[in-house]
Amino acid sequence: MKVQSEINIGLVGHVDHGKTTLTKALSGIWTDTHSEEAKRGISIRLGYADITFRTCPECPAPQCYTTKETCEHCGSKTEILRKVSFVDSPGHETLMATMLSGAAIMDGAILVIGANEPCPQPQTKEHLMALDVIGVKNVIVVQNKVDTVPKEKAIENYYEIKEFVKGTCADGVPIIPISAQQGANIDVLIETIQKNMKTPRRSLRKNPKLYVARSFDINKPGTHPKKINGGIIGGSLIQGKLKLGDEIEIKPGIQVKNKGKTEWKSLTSTITGLEAANNFVDEVGPGGLIGVALLLDPSLTKSDSLSGSIAGKPGTLPPTIQEFTMETHLLDRVVGTKNETDVEPIHSSENLMINIGTTTTVGLVSSARGDEVDVKLRLPVCAEDGQRVALSRRVGARWRLIGYGIIKA
Ligand code: GDP
Ligand code: MG
Repeated sequence: MKVQSEINIGLVGHVDHGKTTLTKALSGIWTDTHSEEAKRGISIRLGYADITFRTCPECPAPQCYTTKETCEHCGSKTEILRKVSFVDSPGHETLMATMLSGAAIMDGAILVIGANEPCPQPQTKEHLMALDVIGVKNVIVVQNKVDTVPKEKAIENYYEIKEFVKGTCADGVPIIPISAQQGANIDVLIETIQKNMKTPRRSLRKNPKLYVARSFDINKPGTHPKKINGGIIGGSLIQGKLKLGDEIEIKPGIQVKNKGKTEWKSLTSTITGLEAANNFVDEVGPGGLIGVALLLDPSLTKSDSLSGSIAGKPGTLPPTIQEFTMETHLLDRVVGTKNETDVEPIHSSENLMINIGTTTTVGLVSSARGDEVDVKLRLPVCAEDGQRVALSRRVGARWRLIGYGIIKA
């Protein structure tokens, strides 16, 4: 049995509809772990939880589906079906950038909708649009909190959901009523995920490409120089494999001064440790969150300084770019607020928030000619021709998703 998860499933949806509670119901892991998150009761960064789906050999479907080692119905020992990684994104409207970076590593997504509120709530809509824009195809809808409403209300809400998803990437997908808090109907949800979200075929032979989501320095202050551990990066492999001893390059890397000019220099290092699903391993492939220990100076990886970078085999990564032209595709309406407005065309000298892979950056529009737009980024990114990027514009005090662009180098 592989220790690593095979697929990343995102949890998206409006704040308080139960994404973190559902992750907890399935995994026993509470993904709101940062202190600020605990205080505010919302997920700020992406939380990952590795979950093992199991089946009871004695019980019929759907009761046989579980995450427990012992069957709750008959006491038999259950058998492993598949390991999946849940990526819990924040549903708060100010945290769209985090949700968008998360969407870049989702192979599929579960849209969690609370049955106790009219559908759609602003971020229910904004997240579904984001899945559409980024191109996450495999979606399942969960109608949560059915324990809080009478049956007729739940049915009425079900039809609201059905109507709402029409014409989107969630049109016609299963809508599973559950109570994450009471653990009700979780077996049916696991069965649906097993049937509808197959493990994607991975290109293991392609050059590795790691989207860096986090980076750390694990040394305590005052550690003796001889005992210092190298820097650590964490993220998701999109393709290929990484092995102990491999050389890797991290881009864009660090800012350096060269003859008075600021340039970006990629970092190169050697892999000294690999971790997947809390296991130390010799080799990793795509799926779940991966920890990579490096020989790199840990001051370079301190407090997420490398998050948003890309790592891979030296010489194989896309170029580091600070300006590009893109072909833009805009939404009709700005969603995410109670009052929706039309999306105005992009105009010169406006700022856009641009999500490229797991990177978030701001770009100044230097020229806009219809659908063709030139941008100059505040921070460079490692990106290539043909790549899809999510575009947001400042509306009032917030960045709102307005569409996507395709990079034309
Ligand atoms: P998130 O913002 O989507 O991650 O939502 P949380 O998982 O943090 O849940 C928000 C609140 O709703 C918490 O107080 C949960 O206990 C509660 N909650 C979540 N799922 C259910 C459910 O199925 N039934 C009930 N009654 N409450 C729930
Ligand atoms: Mg949450």
